[in-house]
Amino acid sequence: MIQRRKTVTVHVGEIPIGSDHPIVVQSMTNTDTADRDATVEQTRQLFEAGSELVRVTVNTEQAAQAIPEIVDRLEGEGVPVPIIGDFHYNGHILLTRYPECARKLSKYRINPGNVGMGRHHDENFKQMIQVALENDKPVRIGVNWGSLDQKLLARLMDSNAKLPEPKESDEVLIDAIIQSALESAALAEEYGLAQDRIILSAKVSAAPDLIQVYQLLASRCEYPLHLGLTEAGMGTRGVVVSVSALSILLQEGIGDTIRVSLTPQPGEERSKEVVICQQILQSLRIRSFSPQVSACPGCGRTTSTFFQELAQEIEQHVKERLVVWRERHPGVEDLTVAVMGCVVNGPGESKHADIGISLPGTGESPKAPVYMDGRHLTTLKGPEIAKDFLEILDRYVEERSQKKNPEARSQNAEVKS
Ligand code: SF4
Repeated sequence: MIQRRKTVTVHVGEIPIGSDHPIVVQSMTNTDTADRDATVEQTRQLFEAGSELVRVTVNTEQAAQAIPEIVDRLEGEGVPVPIIGDFHYNGHILLTRYPECARKLSKYRINPGNVGMGRHHDENFKQMIQVALENDKPVRIGVNWGSLDQKLLARLMDSNAKLPEPKESDEVLIDAIIQSALESAALAEEYGLAQDRIILSAKVSAAPDLIQVYQLLASRCEYPLHLGLTEAGMGTRGVVVSVSALSILLQEGIGDTIRVSLTPQPGEERSKEVVICQQILQSLRIRSFSPQVSACPGCGRTTSTFFQELAQEIEQHVKERLVVWRERHPGVEDLTVAVMGCVVNGPGESKHADIGISLPGTGESPKAPVYMDGRHLTTLKGPEIAKDFLEILDRYVEERSQKKNPEARSQNAEVKS
């Protein structure tokens, strides 16, 4: 059982973030926010994939003007996801000039490295905090090493150079990232923002650096932390680097909301980043989102691709039924299904899952024993194994739900009678 780090709780819209509240999955659109149709559509897709918060860039007057309509349309279309505005350079202007935008957003992301230079830095930052106070909104102070406060970095580099044993410049950079987040949060509190209206993030792009930054940050504050790499990259690399960094921190109880900043491959759905966040949390047994289908990798004992095809068919079947199952069978997200390629690990692994099938390997008798709750249920054979197993799976989901939720059973009985 993972012990979560203690933090204050910050509410973003209706969603509590921090401490023992569920770790929140979030994502960000890549549409031009001024394009209202495209932004509404992509936000809906992200929400339907399971994103519990969606961030949109608010970089121009047109984007700020579009926010009220985007939020209203989403609410009207039954997409009650809090929308977060991502501000850089001109956030103080846009939030002040467009009060409806400020009012409709559920949180403002402020990058302290991009709020202005010199005395303007503090004035602009103060102006944004003022708007947050007037509208009773939380903020995320989101430091990013690509846009780190250069004045702060120069100050720390100078102090470091005077030390008898100066640190490596990478270490000073990490100190600067952490200090920028903590000093900005302290400044926001000084301007009147309560501690429980502040979330912090400090993003870098390499997994070891991210782990170090967040471990230090976690030990020095009680603000909830938003975890994520700043640029995970594309494809397998992006997924692996995100999983590597986030898993270590989450296992240590660090992180209250997560985002995977994946660069989509051309034509790939933006919502893939949401699915990866969910899979990370479910793999670590932190939260459950969808039944898990595990399949063996296959080897020389099974030369056919039948078990791979069956695993894929089951994944697809689960995906298609998930919305209905979630509604009718609460707890279905915890279900485990095993699809195994031969007798070596097939029966054992299938018994460990809620329901499993062990297919015949090369040279084995063409039979597929099915296990349910650790016990042998039946043995399938013939050309209809896939169809028969999916029918058994559907029945199992229903019966399991009735066992776990007797109230649902009595309600169903009432409806039938
Ligand atoms: S279960 Fe059988 S087919 Fe699958 S990897 Fe193990 S030995 Fe190979």
